[in-house]
Amino acid sequence: MENIFPTTHILQRHDKEKLLDQKGVALWFTGLSGSGKTTIAVALEKELHKKGLLTQVLDGDNIRAGINSNLGFSEADRIENIRRIAEVTKLFVNTGIITICCFVSPTEQIRSLAKKIIGEDDFLEIFINTPLEICEKRDVKGLYAKARRGEIKDFTGISAPFEAPVRPEVELRTNELSVAQSVKQIIEKLKI
Ligand code: ADP
Repeated sequence: MENIFPTTHILQRHDKEKLLDQKGVALWFTGLSGSGKTTIAVALEKELHKKGLLTQVLDGDNIRAGINSNLGFSEADRIENIRRIAEVTKLFVNTGIITICCFVSPTEQIRSLAKKIIGEDDFLEIFINTPLEICEKRDVKGLYAKARRGEIKDFTGISAPFEAPVRPEVELRTNELSVAQSVKQIIEKLKI
C-alpha cells in the first residue's frame, strides 16, 4: 500500500487533533490539599469522556509514584517536580489530549514556570478556592493533623504559604458549589 505520510516527519499536533476531533489543552488545577482538585478532576473527566473527549488526569499519586519518585520536597526538588510535570503535560497537550493537572502548586513562581513550559495559549489556570478551615476539617488524608503536630514541615496552608492566583481563568469556591456545578463551570469555559 502506498505510504500517505512522508517518512521524514513525525505527525503534527494538528493531525492528531483532527483525528480526535478535539483540541489539546492543559487545565491546571491549583489549590490547597483537600480543596477538591482530584474530586473535581475525576468528575470532569467522566463528563468529558461521556462527550467523547480524550482526557488524562495527572496528580501527585501517578506522578510522584512514577516519573518523579526520586524527588523530595526541597525547594530545588519542588521546582524539578513541576518542570517535569509541565513537560509531560506538554507532550499530552501536543497529542491533542485534554490534560487535567492537579497539583497544589502554591506559588506564583511555580505556576508561571508551568505556564511558560506548556505555553500560555494551552494553559488554563483553575483555582480550586476552598478556605483552609474547610480543607482542614475535611482532612482527607490526615495530613493537616500531622502538619499541626509538626510531623510534616513546610505544609502548605499551615507552615508554608499559599499564594492565591491573581487572575485565574476559572475560580471555584467549593464551599458554595457542588462538584457537578464546578464541572459545569469548567465545561462552559472550555466551550465544548
Ligand atoms: P485535593 O485533590 O485538592 O487534595 P481531594 O479531591 O482529594 O482534594 O479531596 C477533597 C475532599 O472534599 C473530598 O473528600 C471531596 O469529597 C470533598 N468535597 C466536599 N465538597 C466538595 C465540593 N463541593 N467540591 C469538591 N470536593 C468536595
